[in-house]
Amino acid sequence: MKGDATNKGFDTRAIHAGQAPDPVTGAVSVPIFQTSTYAQHAVGETYGGYEYSRTHNPTRKALEECIASLEGGAYGLAFASGMAAITTLCYLLRPGDHVVLSDDVYGGTYRLFSRVLSRYGIAFDLADLTDPEKAQAAFRPETKLVWLETPTNPWLKTIDIQAVADLAHSRKAWLGVDNTFASPYLQRPLQLGADFVVHSSTKYLGGHSDVVGGLIVLNDADLREQIAFHQNAVGGVPGPVDCFLVLRGIKTLGVRMRQHGANALRVAAFLSEHKAVSRVFYPGLPGDAHHAVARKNTASGGGVEGTAPSEAAIDRAGFGGMVSFIARGGEAVARCMVARTQLFTLAESLGGVESLIEHPGAMTHASLAGSPIEMDPALVRLSVGIEECDDLIADLAQALG
Ligand SMILES: *Cc1c(COP(=O)(O)O)cnc(C)c1O
Repeated sequence: MKGDATNKGFDTRAIHAGQAPDPVTGAVSVPIFQTSTYAQHAVGETYGGYEYSRTHNPTRKALEECIASLEGGAYGLAFASGMAAITTLCYLLRPGDHVVLSDDVYGGTYRLFSRVLSRYGIAFDLADLTDPEKAQAAFRPETKLVWLETPTNPWLKTIDIQAVADLAHSRKAWLGVDNTFASPYLQRPLQLGADFVVHSSTKYLGGHSDVVGGLIVLNDADLREQIAFHQNAVGGVPGPVDCFLVLRGIKTLGVRMRQHGANALRVAAFLSEHKAVSRVFYPGLPGDAHHAVARKNTASGGGVEGTAPSEAAIDRAGFGGMVSFIARGGEAVARCMVARTQLFTLAESLGGVESLIEHPGAMTHASLAGSPIEMDPALVRLSVGIEECDDLIADLAQALG
């Protein structure tokens, strides 16, 4: 079939998977099917299975097929936001179930478990999943789900996905991985044993800071049916324009991730040498405590797929665009510096082509106040974009000066 991308490389599938030319018009770009409902020939006799756009939409279907292909999974499901995706997945849980959450989890995910799901009888514990003994100790007989992000936000710890998948399965629990920071270009958790992958497509997949969205990818047909049931029953679905924007962003995921990784590595090296910075967190730095695990996870990524990836191929794929550091002068210096950059925009969110800077303690992670998750007030987080790297480094130099 024209446009069939099965068995092609990652960068090819990013452009073609689920996106064969439109059979009616030949449109090369997937049309935005801005319709709520679909005509039927006779009662129950549809044109192609489409009845109502909460349930099915062709633009959404293209996105769902594309992300499934990129994550190396059987099924994709699209949602109105990353949080809508995570929430819908959690409808697989029942009162009495227990969840193990990685301790350095996205603030909104922590808020969902601590302030929403806890009211419905779903308990959770935070655990440092970089430490196998602490991970083991967090399980209870009722543990149904383990939830992790790697690299984590904002400390950029990396967790060995395969090791946690084995542990979860030995305890008859599912493993869900929020793959927002790495993207399928850098790691594909299903290949490492995860049961679910979730994305905030607002970030690297969309890539241009112009859309909010979420995705789930999985292999199990029964679980796919249950999640699709809740996708329709609960209704947190994306509109067709948003699906189009995410699809358009995904087309350049590979080239963007390579540039994000190259720029972030140089920025992290620059910060490591700077006297106003006491510590840098970036898993791509060879001396970083998480470098070895980052390489192991990256070996599953679309950026190196095909053969057993060489060390050089892993270095070329890179380690993503997120860098955090501690200002030596403490909170006052951190807050002053994030307001002084000219190219790095002071803003929440991440993963777009433009560089962003923020103060996690007062911004993205403020919802963690009072939680056991540690937040250092001198911590600064960067989302390194794909601008000219010399300009980015000059901007950080003047702001730290
Ligand atoms: C942004 C983000 C989310 C939430 O996604 P939204 O699209 O903002 O709802 C979840 N996980 C991670 C790691 C994120 O960065």
